[in-house]
Amino acid sequence: SKNILTIYNKHKSELYVNEGVSSVVRRCVHRHTAQELAVKIIEITAEKMTVQQLEEVKTSTLKEVHVLNMVKGHSSIITLIDSYESATFIFLVFDLMRRGELFDYLTEKVTLSEKETRCIMRALLEAVQYLHSLNIVHRDLKPENILLDDQGHIKLSDFGFSVQLQPGEKLRELCGTPGYLAPEILKCSMDEMHPGYGKEVDLWACGVILFTLLAGSPPFWHRKQMLMLRTIMEGRYQFTSPEWDDRSDTVKDLISRLLVTDPTIRLTAEQALGHPFFRQYQKEDVRLFSPRKSFRVLIVTVLACIRMYSRYRRARPLTRDVLARDPYSLRGVRKLIDGCAFRIYGHWVKKGEQQNRAALFQNTAKIVLLGLEDFDS
Ligand code: ADP
Ligand code: MG
Repeated sequence: SKNILTIYNKHKSELYVNEGVSSVVRRCVHRHTAQELAVKIIEITAEKMTVQQLEEVKTSTLKEVHVLNMVKGHSSIITLIDSYESATFIFLVFDLMRRGELFDYLTEKVTLSEKETRCIMRALLEAVQYLHSLNIVHRDLKPENILLDDQGHIKLSDFGFSVQLQPGEKLRELCGTPGYLAPEILKCSMDEMHPGYGKEVDLWACGVILFTLLAGSPPFWHRKQMLMLRTIMEGRYQFTSPEWDDRSDTVKDLISRLLVTDPTIRLTAEQALGHPFFRQYQKEDVRLFSPRKSFRVLIVTVLACIRMYSRYRRARPLTRDVLARDPYSLRGVRKLIDGCAFRIYGHWVKKGEQQNRAALFQNTAKIVLLGLEDFDS
């Protein structure tokens, strides 16, 4: 079990699998065309690493470039524009995704609607389906590696862990990001008799992403990493947080078919795209204009106007007194507080089934929590 703890959390990472190797992504401009681009700079200085490490970084970067060249051109996959090498760096040039990571977008929004989630997941699954049709496994699907372009369309990036499988080939390496690791990756690293894992690990990660987008917190999480890994291996997660009350049974069904510990019965990308969660809305999403839709927009607009007018008449004046007495009861302020808390504490704020987010702002509650923490450690 010791090697389980050596995985690096790649979030915002400067770390590759091999320690001490760093890469950084910067915005840049093409001198001739003035086009704005992104460049991933990978350091390969002999001073900081051993000869063996140097070779490893070079081969793994070459592999990344090879995969990127194979997959570019798909509308939901990042385009590698160019790559070159100097004595001390390797440069990979990409089109610039100005709106950054899906991770940051989610942190800002806290949770996404089912509609927006559907749009993102459909594009992601189409990208995964394409990769798998080429026998490529991504192995590091997570919101940090899904980028948004100017129009808000997603593009899958970071092929640093990707490999192309030979027919019948199975993988054994322990790599990826802890919270997104499929159970069979963990089992395989602990059991030499395990047959190894394959493409299915990407669909597990898609399940984790889908859950996270809707709940605002990940399905598998524990303060102690070992315990988190155990819940993953057992496939233990729950739809108990309040967000799930308003979510459809259809999407819960899809999640439960992706987060299946047995990879042989887990949905494939193609099957997932055929799930009712996507199928039942296909027509609506495609047909942007229809008389029925226009009529509905009209009705909704009229109702909204009526509601606004009556609110305006009933509105309580927002006094300093109300604000001081119970700020969390005011909808606008509540959203603001939640947003701030989320930005500071990240996804784990809302973890723990009964956690009331208002409690974060009551110091007494915090002391109780601290007491508990002392107790169980
Ligand atoms: P790493 O292997 O270090 O995770 P990534 O390729 O994932 O490297 O890049 C790290 C981060 O850099 C991404 O999570 C993203 O925030 C940013 N980034 C990468 N490529 C682009 C791009 N084309 N446009 C904008 N930001 C990017
Ligand atoms: Mg990354």
